[in-house]
Amino acid sequence: MVIHFTPGPKIPPLPPVGNTVPDDEPEFAEESGPCDKCDGFYGSGGIILQGKVVKCCLRCFGRKLHLYRYGVSWIEAFTHPGTCCPYKSKPLEAAVKTANEKLKTGFGVYNRFKNNSEHFATFCRTGKKFSIQPLIHKYGGDKLPELPVDELENIAAGTSEN
Ligand SMILES: [Zn+2]
Repeated sequence: MVIHFTPGPKIPPLPPVGNTVPDDEPEFAEESGPCDKCDGFYGSGGIILQGKVVKCCLRCFGRKLHLYRYGVSWIEAFTHPGTCCPYKSKPLEAAVKTANEKLKTGFGVYNRFKNNSEHFATFCRTGKKFSIQPLIHKYGGDKLPELPVDELENIAAGTSEN
């Protein structure tokens, strides 16, 4: 089973940002499920407006699974958006415990830059929210901005002021 954070109804794809976002895959997997064992990829048949943490089976989760890497450099994370994160992963049991807690308490309102499904996954795995999308959104995808690491972390966590 997969516990993930979903925006609900399909939202438009991100605007193109250079060549850093692969264009051969849709931004989101096709909506699938729910089957009789799970909430489906979007949960409750996709009628979720504010974002919701749902549990679904691997079959409904998506056609393709990708391995996500932890503990990479910031440059690596910036040049491979959505595939890796600079923070180290906690032990799997700890990550599953956090995901199960969030299944009960929720993860706030979905926002594709400030609180997305990658933020949810990295929070469960590392204790810190991370997605490179807010940085790319703010500075473009050409070059990692030269900022102090704590500022990069704030922007990537979706917690910076702007
Ligand atoms: Zn299912």
